[in-house]
Amino acid sequence: MYEIERKELVDSLRRKGIKDEAVLSAMEKVERHLFVPEAVRPHAYEDIALPIGYGQTISQPYTVAVMTEQLKLKPGQKVLEIGTGSGYQAAILLEMGLKVYTIERQPEIYLRTQKLFDKLGLRILMKLGDGTIGWEQYAPYDGIIVTAGSPAIPEKLKKQLAIGGRLVIPVGDRVSQTLTILTKLDENKFDVEKIPQFAFVPLIGREGWKEK
Ligand code: SAH
Repeated sequence: MYEIERKELVDSLRRKGIKDEAVLSAMEKVERHLFVPEAVRPHAYEDIALPIGYGQTISQPYTVAVMTEQLKLKPGQKVLEIGTGSGYQAAILLEMGLKVYTIERQPEIYLRTQKLFDKLGLRILMKLGDGTIGWEQYAPYDGIIVTAGSPAIPEKLKKQLAIGGRLVIPVGDRVSQTLTILTKLDENKFDVEKIPQFAFVPLIGREGWKEK
C-alpha cells in the first residue's frame, strides 16, 4: 500500500538535498503509515511531523533523512537511538542493516511501539528509561541519534560513542534547536558540525529538560 506516495516522498527528499542512496532507499521501503495513529494515516507521506499521542510526534521525514545521513553508518554497525517514539526512525536504521538499540522514557509509548515491532517482526532492542544516561551495556556505539531537543550534550552519550563514531543531537531551547553533529576523534576530542533550525519535542531527563 501507498507505494506511489512513498516514491513521491523520496523524490521530494531528493529535491530538498538528501543524497545518501542507502537512506533514500530505506525510506522508500519502510511503511511510515504503519507507525502513525489511524486518524493521521492519510497524511503519513506528507513531509511533516505528525502527532502520535501523549504530546509526542513522529519526526518529519526530511528530519529523519538528514539525521540518518549525518550518522554516516555502514551495515553491521551499532546505533543507539534516544527517543523511540513511534519507532519509525529505528525501523529506518534497521532497514539500513544496522544493529539498533533504542530508549524511550514514556511507558505507554514504549509498550505500544514494542508491540508494533513484534507485529512487524523488527528485531530492535528496546529499553524503557532515561536515554540521557545512555545504555552502558552495549556501548560503545558507532553512532548515537537523539530524536528530542536537548539543552546540552549529555556527557554519558559522548562517553558511550566509539572512536570515529558520530553523535547527532538537536541542541537549543525548548522551541528551536541546532542539529549538532559530534565526531569522536579520541577519548576527549570531538569535531563539531552544526545545521541550524530544527524543532523537536523536549528531551526530558537527568541531562535534559525538567518535566513541566
Ligand atoms: N524517533 C521518534 C521521534 C519521537 S519524538 C520517531 O521516529 O517517532 C521523541 C521521543 O523522545 C518521545 O517519544 C519522548 O517520549 C522521548 N523522550 C524524551 N526524553 C527522553 C529521554 N530522556 N529518554 C528517552 N526518550 C525520551
